Amino acid sequence: MTVVVLLGAPGAGKGTQAAILAERLGVPHIATGDLFRAAVRDDTAIGREAAAYMSRGELVPDTITIGMLLERLGRKDAAPGAVLDGFPRNREQAGALDGALVARGAQVDRAVLIEVPADELVRRLSGRWICRKEGHVYHERKHPPRKDGICDIDGSALYQRDDDRPETIRARLAQQLGALGDVIAYYRDRGVLGSVDGTVSVPDVTAALVAQVTAVPKGA
Ligand code: AMP
Repeated sequence: MTVVVLLGAPGAGKGTQAAILAERLGVPHIATGDLFRAAVRDDTAIGREAAAYMSRGELVPDTITIGMLLERLGRKDAAPGAVLDGFPRNREQAGALDGALVARGAQVDRAVLIEVPADELVRRLSGRWICRKEGHVYHERKHPPRKDGICDIDGSALYQRDDDRPETIRARLAQQLGALGDVIAYYRDRGVLGSVDGTVSVPDVTAALVAQVTAVPKGA
């Protein structure tokens, strides 16, 4: 099984790149943020517990998050591996992931950091709008919809996530950049860390990521 972890601050482009990379590798793209948003939408027990943390821009407690991620990773479609996006967010989560993978004779093969400066992150995140129906993503400046507030693809209304408002973004960045540093150090110590420049075009970031992921022989 091939497990790749994409690391980066909120807005670094992890979601976009994880989806492309997962398709190339033939494994699912597993994003804990998407799992939580689906749980909130479906009003499940996890969704009800997570909602308040998410709207404050805080991390959901590890017990909830780790259980949810490991359950997803244990499903059949993830037998060949996964591209993880938004997990792990701290050392405890990284350790729990390693423990679960070791039990399956696997490991994190590569953790790649997508690097984007903080002021660019605030600019990117504060313009993000998402469609209600399918989660298609738009940006006020870089990728505006043809008609304000309406999804080009399915015609549904666009909304701004509570955690994409500028005040929440600054709180979220401050909290998460600290924890991200710990996760980066964790994977650096294990010798599986790589990084790519996240300020170049989407295809150029993808090319750099593919090079990073395929450069490492399995089990190295
Ligand atoms: P994201 O889409 O990755 O930005 O995640 C949206 C929100 O979901 C975060 O602000 C957290 O509240 C929650 N979340 C996602 N992944 C995690 C995680 N690994 N640990 C804790 N909370 C998470």
